[in-house]
Amino acid sequence: MAAVITGDAADTRRDWRDRGSQRTEMMTPLLSVDALTLQYQTQDHIITATWRVSFEVFQGDRFILLGPSGCGKSSLLKAVGGFLRPVEGGIKLSDQPVRQPGPDRMMVFQEFDQLLGWKTVKANVAYPMKVSRRFPPEEIDERAAQSLAKVNLTKFADAYPHMLSGGMKQRVAIARALAMEPAILLMDEPFAALDALTRRAMQEEVLELWAETGTTMLFVTHSIEEALIVGSRILVLSPHPGQVRAEVDANDCSPSNIGSSPFQAMHRRIENMLFSRHLERAP
Ligand code: ADP
Ligand code: MG
Repeated sequence: MAAVITGDAADTRRDWRDRGSQRTEMMTPLLSVDALTLQYQTQDHIITATWRVSFEVFQGDRFILLGPSGCGKSSLLKAVGGFLRPVEGGIKLSDQPVRQPGPDRMMVFQEFDQLLGWKTVKANVAYPMKVSRRFPPEEIDERAAQSLAKVNLTKFADAYPHMLSGGMKQRVAIARALAMEPAILLMDEPFAALDALTRRAMQEEVLELWAETGTTMLFVTHSIEEALIVGSRILVLSPHPGQVRAEVDANDCSPSNIGSSPFQAMHRRIENMLFSRHLERAP
């Protein structure tokens, strides 16, 4: 199994290039996150959510941010989305600094209530296309229909969100995001609130969508198994405040080999990384 694991983030990035993956030195990252420190100012004190986190996402990656609850995964995603300004470090998308939200970065959340309850499924999918004016108005209807077809919800185009199961609502949210043809799809634990069987089905659907569209994904989860199934590369983060522990190549792990010993070995190695305490603490 050609897994790349090291304990040090800087070495890992060097490793990644050296180990002869398809990437070359010439390839520039689609998204580069450089020494990102994120903080929240509350009434009494400052909370450091992440400490100097760096990573690079390349076109077509399924890049996972993996770490325990509270380690700053959502904060990182919000910063990439342009909703949270870093106190230190920077973010570039296609070599342009990220300073605000934009239609090139669409977000899918964990919550089932992210759809507009008073609009039909199809109108929900069409809505960001309408307000962003990203596409000519006459194309929007057809684009919404195509996107719903991709997640197998054509029959539910005229239904309202309250008529759908949790899994179906998440598929609508994914269709809505994909319809915008974002440069990168940001997903914050999108399946965490689903039952185990639906969750597994959704993970496989995401892989199918990726195979069909090639959309670059930045996917947050606290489940090692989900990270290995969905991801091509995994950034392992330490507990609060989040720092990079390692980067892992997950290309050899898939839904079809979950029970295999290489998959289980990789699972254990990541588990050890998540629970090891060798990293220096941020102040
Ligand atoms: P994760 O998504 O990995 O669970 P978060 O990014 O949500 O972690 O949170 C990281 C840290 O920042 C946590 O300690 C959390 O309590 C804190 N935090 C998150 N959002 C806010 C906020 N709006 N105000 C203050 N602290 C926050
Ligand atoms: Mg979160």
